[in-house]
Amino acid sequence: MIVFNLRCGQGHSFEEWFASSADYDEKAAASALSCPECGDGRVEKGLTAPRINGGAAQPVGPCGQAACAAGPCQMLD
Ligand SMILES: [Zn+2]
Repeated sequence: MIVFNLRCGQGHSFEEWFASSADYDEKAAASALSCPECGDGRVEKGLTAPRINGGAAQPVGPCGQAACAAGPCQMLD
């Protein structure tokens, strides 16, 4: 399984699990993806690199680094 950060045409970000990168390509090509918030079908991959077999979503700090989730951000100083 692989998770992608997706973004709809209205700017909503959400995560979706796929069996593989090819599974995403297939669903995207078939317009089988839509935003859970507004139903927008214009969905594209976000900027974040995909995580593989990550289980629960990792909390991240304001800079996007997991290392900064629990305390003051080390990256934005
Ligand atoms: Zn949306």
